Amino acid sequence: MFESLEHLTYQSGEQIFQEGDKGDCAFLIESGSIDISTRKDSKFYRIIILEEGDLFGEIALIDNEPRTATATALEETRLIRIDRDLIDTELANGNPIIEHILRLVLKRFRHTYYKLIGKDLLSIKTSKSEQALSDTQKNLIEHVRKASDINVALKQDQFILYYQPIILIEDEQLVGFEALIRWMHPDDGLILPMQFLNIAENTGQILPIGIWVLEQACRDFKKLNKSSRNSSKQAPLFISVNLSARQLARAGDTEQFVNILRKAQVDPENIKLEVTETALIEEAEITQHILSDLRDLGFHVSLDDFGTGYSSLSHLQNFPVDDIKIDLSFISRMLEDPNSMQIVKASINLARAMDLETVAEGVESKEDVKQLGYMKCTYAQGYYYAKPLPLPDAIDFSRQN
Ligand code: C2E
Ligand code: MG
Ligand code: MG
Repeated sequence: MFESLEHLTYQSGEQIFQEGDKGDCAFLIESGSIDISTRKDSKFYRIIILEEGDLFGEIALIDNEPRTATATALEETRLIRIDRDLIDTELANGNPIIEHILRLVLKRFRHTYYKLIGKDLLSIKTSKSEQALSDTQKNLIEHVRKASDINVALKQDQFILYYQPIILIEDEQLVGFEALIRWMHPDDGLILPMQFLNIAENTGQILPIGIWVLEQACRDFKKLNKSSRNSSKQAPLFISVNLSARQLARAGDTEQFVNILRKAQVDPENIKLEVTETALIEEAEITQHILSDLRDLGFHVSLDDFGTGYSSLSHLQNFPVDDIKIDLSFISRMLEDPNSMQIVKASINLARAMDLETVAEGVESKEDVKQLGYMKCTYAQGYYYAKPLPLPDAIDFSRQN
């Protein structure tokens, strides 16, 4: 995130930017001092002198408007330049309520500021910032509406779990299912997780959703396991449940997880908890402890979307997991793209060397399975075997396999 930060040095009297310039970055003063002035009736008026540790030009990080003042070095001054791209990415991934409030406050600040210094208000009404404000307003409305719909969905049981089979490659037997949430919206029909989970994550609604998912998966586990031909001759099926970053960072949840399983009379050995790499880095230290606790309690842990996160290898070193799920972006391309094939191969070899099992996600063809078999991948999951299925279809699948 911080690789785009640049160090700059200005000499005494050198201008950093001028009132009216396009603003696309802010500056942090490492050493030296800066004069901030504004021009009125062709005369300069000093607003403030800023020194080491101060930030200036920061408004340009959020709105797209011209600079409202001129910044000049008063002595040799070292600055760190912070580009808007950096903030834009953070804002886009963040909470739309915060983004909207920021833009609104800035708009009001600019209006007040221009009034104070007696400038023409019309000169600051450029279409870009008005457009940004109206876009964030639309986002905000959509966000709040979805969040309130999610509350209704939780109360009225509109969520449902689909199950996608996971197959042991060696003998192509069914070994488990991944539980994948769906939202049966009364007006909009079936909604996929990517369309609502990020909002639920932002609002914290992911916590009650996560608990519901685990409870429901335990209830369904019994039905799926009973219908499985495997149950009599081999180990019982497992069910994989996805955990969100927020859920994972909550220490108290381990106890809650155990209680849910105890109540449902399901052994933790039959539940795999899938965590993504991004979930791991958010609160790395706490997460490491929680994962260890969960494994001590008997749960299996899978590292989901392996290879897509930042620094995948270090996660294997630091986080206790039982298997890795190789992301479908590599599997789906491996037959055409030698680089993807090498990544899949290297991931499987690495996992094997560390005594971990591997699951290939997004397996769509017989040839995929064949290649994965050669590479000694343990399990396969994907449309080749089945799409995520509603419970009755998953029960049928489990009867036939
Ligand atoms: P994931 O855990 O990596 O799940 C795999 C996704 O790949 C699923 O998308 C599945 O439908 C899709 N998929 C499986 N096989 C194939 C294939 O052969 N080809 C293609 N193109 N896609 C395939 P889905 O169900 O839309 O879920 C998306 C993500 O949402 C999941 O990714 C998971 O991160 C998250 N998610 C789903 N259910 C839950 C949940 O109950 N709790 C949490 N926290 N996250 C969930
Ligand atoms: Mg998953
Ligand atoms: Mg995945």
